[in-house]
Amino acid sequence: DVAHGRILYLEDVNVSFDGFKAINHLSLDIAPGELRCIIGPNGAGKTTMMDIITGKTRPDSGQVFFGSTIDLLRYKEAEIAQLGIGRKFQKPTVFEHLTVFQNLELALKTDKGVKSSMFFRLDSAQSDRLAEVLHTIHLAGSVGRQAGNLSHGQKQWLEIGMLLMQGPKLLLLDEPVAGMTDEETARTAELFLSLKGKHSLMVVEHDMSFIRTISEIVTVLCDGAVLAQGTLDEVQADERVIEVYLGR
Ligand code: ADP
Repeated sequence: DVAHGRILYLEDVNVSFDGFKAINHLSLDIAPGELRCIIGPNGAGKTTMMDIITGKTRPDSGQVFFGSTIDLLRYKEAEIAQLGIGRKFQKPTVFEHLTVFQNLELALKTDKGVKSSMFFRLDSAQSDRLAEVLHTIHLAGSVGRQAGNLSHGQKQWLEIGMLLMQGPKLLLLDEPVAGMTDEETARTAELFLSLKGKHSLMVVEHDMSFIRTISEIVTVLCDGAVLAQGTLDEVQADERVIEVYLGR
C-alpha cells in the first residue's frame, strides 16, 4: 500500500504455545518494494512470525494487515496465498520428474493438479511471464532439463520461479541460501536485488555476507519481539544484539 508506505504490518501481535510466549508484543512494518532481512537466534520466533503472516498460526491478539485495508486475520491460509503472499520454505520442493518448463507451467495451475496441466496451454501473457521468470531465475538455458537433475541452488531458484509465476506482491523466504555454493549464493543475491522494487521480500537468513549484499534494513528478532532494527552495521554494533548472539 504505497499511500501508507507499507505492504505489511504487524501490530502488537502475541502468540502463546501452552503458556510459552513465542511471539511477545511483536510490531513490524515492511514498505512496498522493500527487501527486508530478518535475523535472530534459534527460537526467536522467526518461523512463527511467518506462520502468522501466511495464516498457518492464529495469533492470540494483535493486528496483521496486508496493505492498509486487508486484515489477514480474516483469511484462511489458502486464501492468503491467493491474495499475493508467496512463501518458500527452506528445502526446495519442486516436481523432480518434471522439466523446468513444466514446473513453472504447473505453478499457474497448482489448484488443478499435475494431470490437468498436461492439457493446459499457456496464453500469450502467461508465456511471456514464463520467459521472463526463466531469465530472472537464471534457468533460461535449462528449460527442458528434468528438475531432479538440477543443482541444489538451481532447484531453489526454480521454486522461487514457481512463486513468481503467481505474481506475488510479497515473498517470504526462509534461509534461501542455506546449502548453496558461494557462486550460487552470489547469483541468488543478484536474483533478489532484481526482484526488489517489483515485489516486497522478507528474508530470514543467517548468512551475514549474503545479508550485507542484499539488505538495507535488518530486523533482529529475539524472544518473540523486535530487539533491534537498522543497517547490518548498526545492528551488529548493538550491545543487545551482541549479547544475544554471544551471551547465550
Ligand atoms: P525461530 O524460527 O526463530 O527459530 P520459532 O518461531 O520456530 O523460532 O520458535 C519460537 C519459539 O516457539 C521456540 O521456543 C519454539 O520452541 C516455540 N514453538 C514454535 N512452534 C511451537 C509449537 N507449535 N508448539 C510449541 N512451541 C512452539
